Amino acid sequence: MEAKKQSSNDQLLRAIMEYYPISVIELELNGKIANANHHTCELTGYEEYELIGMDYRLLLSDEKIHANKCIEERLVQGKATQKATYFDDKNGLRIDLQMVIYPLMKDDQLERVVLISQDVSDRRRVNDRIRYMSYYDDMTGLPNRRLFLERLTDLLDATRSADVGVAVAYMDLDRFKLVNDSFGQDFGDMLLMQIAERLTRIVTEYDFVARMDGDEFIFYFVNISTEEEALQKGKQIVQVLDDPFILKDQPIHLTASIGISMSRGHQGDARQLIKQADIALSSVKNKGKNFYQMYSSEMSTKSLERLTLQHELRKAMRNGEFLLYYQPQVHMETGQIVGAEALIRWKHPEKGLIPPDQFIPLAEENGLIVPMGEWVLEEACRQNKAWQQAGLPSIPISVNLSMRQFLLQNLNEKVGQVLEKTGLEAKYLDLEITESMTMDVNHASNCLKELRELGVGISIDDFGTGYSSFSYLKDFSINRLKIDRSFVRGIMEDRSAAAIVASIIAMAHHLDLQVIAEGVESVEQVDFLKAHSCDEIQGYYYSPPVPVGRIEEMLTENVMA
Ligand code: C2E
Ligand code: CA
Ligand code: CA
Repeated sequence: MEAKKQSSNDQLLRAIMEYYPISVIELELNGKIANANHHTCELTGYEEYELIGMDYRLLLSDEKIHANKCIEERLVQGKATQKATYFDDKNGLRIDLQMVIYPLMKDDQLERVVLISQDVSDRRRVNDRIRYMSYYDDMTGLPNRRLFLERLTDLLDATRSADVGVAVAYMDLDRFKLVNDSFGQDFGDMLLMQIAERLTRIVTEYDFVARMDGDEFIFYFVNISTEEEALQKGKQIVQVLDDPFILKDQPIHLTASIGISMSRGHQGDARQLIKQADIALSSVKNKGKNFYQMYSSEMSTKSLERLTLQHELRKAMRNGEFLLYYQPQVHMETGQIVGAEALIRWKHPEKGLIPPDQFIPLAEENGLIVPMGEWVLEEACRQNKAWQQAGLPSIPISVNLSMRQFLLQNLNEKVGQVLEKTGLEAKYLDLEITESMTMDVNHASNCLKELRELGVGISIDDFGTGYSSFSYLKDFSINRLKIDRSFVRGIMEDRSAAAIVASIIAMAHHLDLQVIAEGVESVEQVDFLKAHSCDEIQGYYYSPPVPVGRIEEMLTENVMA
């Protein structure tokens, strides 16, 4: 019985040694190799006859294993040990291993030692790669934001008690987008690599440079004791970029804006320093770029926040951080969803969901509203078409236009292109403009006429808050008025608000316009609006703006109702 078990164990052992890719080496107690399986030969490049009789230390030069008291003691006690170690193969190359050091005992005495090793160098390469990817920028090979932050944090911790000043310089290339636009992304990338190479020239072994994001780079410099010295570094960055770069045999002159901050005494953490440098950078950009500047606390916080926001807004545009919420518009009589308004949201990586009131005005100011508005238009049309294709009811989608968009020369062409691209029929798009956009009556009536010819709907948003002359309405090609929510709110408390709402509805119907009330929150408001024959309502009473998944559910319920 015993013998039978023994022999099946032997077979099992042999099967494993033969077929499983592990190296098994048997050692005599003097360290000479007594036996080695053929996987050991494959792994190390030695022939079996070379291995037999060889001192194992030639193969396993790892000092942590030799004369390790702990391992020795365990072996004598008959206990195995696991270790990460390595072989030096015949060519001297290192092979990483996970090794089990196993005692063979006879009568409670250690007789031989077996080394069972698995090659983990692939796993190590993968781990190295993962580490590399999480700390370095693939394209330029520079450290990334994360590594920069870690290093700067360590540096500040280490220098807190010593009297060593640290300066952080945040650099952003001016008008880099132009390069991408005129030469293409690939060349833009090549240029960034050249830039990265130049930037490394100004850092000493104690300084550090990293790529933050797109065309933004960041440095820290040690041993900086005065602002003059910090500014000197800014100057060096400007100078190293001064010689033209060569792209497609063409010299390209680039400039950069740089914001600099300094750790003062013992205060300030890494994030704060980076943020201050970023604020100083925004201030440079705002003043007309191509310059370097020191952060100063006099820069008032408010304008700083605005500048940072502006800076972040541009990034958000590049990184696609915007999304749309949809608010249903409901038919007064049937209670069915007859439309939806697309409302933009900004999914900020740290601050979470930001409502449009906090960034639309700024985007209006700096012109970013135009590309942003184009994105909204296209996304809303694409989404609406997708709903139709999924069998949801066909409803018009309302999109808010900004003043700047409305003043574009080729707005109708743009809208036409988007409809064509997304395949949405024009009648399923409704554009919302505000009264104030119609100030220039000539432009407005031409522009609206062209849009109506495309077949899209036009609503006047926030109606009643602009200059309330009804007379122009009949000259404009519009379909619908949206009564501003301030009047709707006043319906129950304020007699004149109620009167205004009633007369807007009556007047609109005279002019053959539809009326929708927005900001409807209570059943009393609904009753009043119903009594005055308002066509549609939009507001929290029915639903707030909701993410796309939720409006899809509502539209589905709508079909079933
Ligand atoms: P708006 O066009 O008047 O949009 C309606 C706003 O009223 C939405 O705010 C909505 O959440 C809010 N609202 C809806 N129902 C109720 C209600 O029952 N009570 C109250 N108190 N409020 C209600 P939101 O989404 O924050 O948008 C604010 C403004 O931002 C919009 O006002 C619009 O002027 C602008 N906006 C939003 N998305 C875009 C866009 O894609 N492009 C442009 N140019 N402007 C946009
Ligand atoms: Ca609106
Ligand atoms: Ca409105």
